[in-house]
Amino acid sequence: MPELPEVETVRRGLQPAMEGATITRAQVNRPDLRWPFPERMAERLTGAKVTQLRRRSKYVLADLDTNETLLIHLGMSGRMTVSGDPLGQFTHTHPKAEKHDHVVFDMHNGARITFNDPRRFGAMDLLPSNSTETHPLIAKLGPEPLGNDFHESYLAARLAGKNTPIKSALLDQRIVAGLGNIYVCEALFRAGIAPKRKAAALSQARAHSLVPIIRDVLQEAIEAGGSSLRDFRQADGELGYFQHSFDVYGREGEPCKTPDCTSKIGRITQSGRSSFYCPQCQR
Ligand SMILES: [Zn+2]
Repeated sequence: MPELPEVETVRRGLQPAMEGATITRAQVNRPDLRWPFPERMAERLTGAKVTQLRRRSKYVLADLDTNETLLIHLGMSGRMTVSGDPLGQFTHTHPKAEKHDHVVFDMHNGARITFNDPRRFGAMDLLPSNSTETHPLIAKLGPEPLGNDFHESYLAARLAGKNTPIKSALLDQRIVAGLGNIYVCEALFRAGIAPKRKAAALSQARAHSLVPIIRDVLQEAIEAGGSSLRDFRQADGELGYFQHSFDVYGREGEPCKTPDCTSKIGRITQSGRSSFYCPQCQR
């Protein structure tokens, strides 16, 4: 499941191919993904110019000069591929069409954007640009973790009343948007906070400490994604999935990376998801 840094990497990868470019042909190969596509989607997209490519939480938003915005969600297994060579950065030839290529955009600059999704948990929708924040997928989302509305006193206030474990509170998209299992595990390790610790029981200082740590964890992953983009462009043009090393995520039974800590990384299940943590460093 792509998390915020992966989606941001996809956005940055699509940007040079899509921003400022007109969709000369939109090919929609089936009526739906997770949900039905909007009516006449191909027709509404054809001839539209992408004025801006934004991200909100795990959604890529392409603002169009038709006053509509295309929302793209990768779901569990969605992949975006760029081919063609608008800026000399991507693979030159378009790959052969593949099974599960559900949506294909040809841009006037020669780029081709392909959305492939074998499991079809992804989604696309078209919404009026002036009301993207009220779209059902977006309306209840909390602030962006890298934005100005996510700050120390905000987070402390939201956690104060929560009798749930801090792990669940940080995964709650109404409190902060776009955080997923991997980066919550990593942030809690850096903060030295046990995943089962009740949110309301955190001291204000510890709650405050989470804000810069969450930002750092995400920024570092976005930077790792940025360096991977160069390789992806030269390889097959697929965007968004990159190798990144984690301190705790996926490291059950391996030694803790904190100097002088002799503990091994543990794993517990919380709300059906694995929490990786160091029992010695996280309290
Ligand atoms: Zn440790």
